[in-house]
Amino acid sequence: MLASLLLALTLSATPATPAGRPLLITVDDLPIASVSLHTDPAERERITRGLLAVLKKHHIQAVGLVNMGRMKEPEVSRLLDLWLADGHELGNHSYSHPSLTQQSAEAFIADVERGRSALAKHLASRGKTVRFFRFPFLREGETLEKLRAVRAYLTESKQRVLPVTIDNQDWSFEQPFVQGKPVAEEYQEALHTAVRFSEARGDKLGGGVSPQILLLHANAVGVAEWDRLFTWLKQTGHRFATADEVLAHPLFSESHEFIGTHGPSLWERLIDKRVRQDTETAVHALLRKQAEAWNQGDLDAFCAVYTEDAAFVSPTGLTRGRAQVLARYRQRYPDRKAMGTLSFEFLETRLAKGIEYSAFGDALSSRVHGVSVVARWTLAYPDKASATGLTLLVLHRRGDGWEIVEDASM
Ligand SMILES: [Zn+2]
Repeated sequence: MLASLLLALTLSATPATPAGRPLLITVDDLPIASVSLHTDPAERERITRGLLAVLKKHHIQAVGLVNMGRMKEPEVSRLLDLWLADGHELGNHSYSHPSLTQQSAEAFIADVERGRSALAKHLASRGKTVRFFRFPFLREGETLEKLRAVRAYLTESKQRVLPVTIDNQDWSFEQPFVQGKPVAEEYQEALHTAVRFSEARGDKLGGGVSPQILLLHANAVGVAEWDRLFTWLKQTGHRFATADEVLAHPLFSESHEFIGTHGPSLWERLIDKRVRQDTETAVHALLRKQAEAWNQGDLDAFCAVYTEDAAFVSPTGLTRGRAQVLARYRQRYPDRKAMGTLSFEFLETRLAKGIEYSAFGDALSSRVHGVSVVARWTLAYPDKASATGLTLLVLHRRGDGWEIVEDASM
């Protein structure tokens, strides 16, 4: 009775989630992205007011990411106040938009902190704080050391990384738009494609409807195109959501340490991580299965994982071809007793994998092209000392699995 009462209370206390895919709109490079194309302060204000009018029309509460060094005061503060007056949140996007991959972590952090403190000062007098940071160009570091150094600074200064899940090239339409070229259809089509593509990736990752974060830039082309874009988004089942709602989804708390010179979306980072884990698991399982075949005295099965033209290198020389490798093993291990019990200890696994580009120029997690494994092998015998050594294996794809193309054992 009490239990059912509690259950009823719990159920009635759960707020109903409105229908539709939650989508956070984020606007980068505030106050104006392409300052060199818009030098007149009156025009910059017109663009800002134009963007804000579209957001208001669609009841969107956006997060704007600010470069405080993009323009001079008092213009910066005046334009940012227009965003704040409409209830949008402002986050830090560094002072001068540097690329982390083109400078030291120290220099990058100094620029980000300069941006943070200037924005924090502006917000403090209006009763607000800086909660979010977004990496310029979405580049989070090409070495683990840099990635970790910047993350440590961000944690310490209480700035949460606001990722992008729908990366796209909306900024690239600004120049042709300003030059009077007809970009509308191409702009809409490019954005629709990016939304559909990224959402399919995100849903597969999350195993359901995953909330999304769309990246847009504060540009004149947005004043012309956002209304149509936002209308399409609503028609295709989206619901404009707040940063807090979207970030509450578990995918946004998943750890990742993507290393690269480019800045892919959060989904590509998570896909990269999972593909790496899955590949490592599959390759290690294959090698363990190979050891099992050895331990059953089945040299044919043991050698089946080599390609027909595999190269086998040992201190005694080079053997070419699976048949020759098999013959060599048969000669050296003539019976079950000589073979002993084989086991592997995997010391290091590296993947030939990186980033490739979509037709629109967005960075995507690439296929795994090859795997190399360094392992310690041990042959244990009941009546004599074990033999042990190291091996370096290079594996390529075979259908859904893997095969050894090179083996250097010592
Ligand atoms: Zn930017």
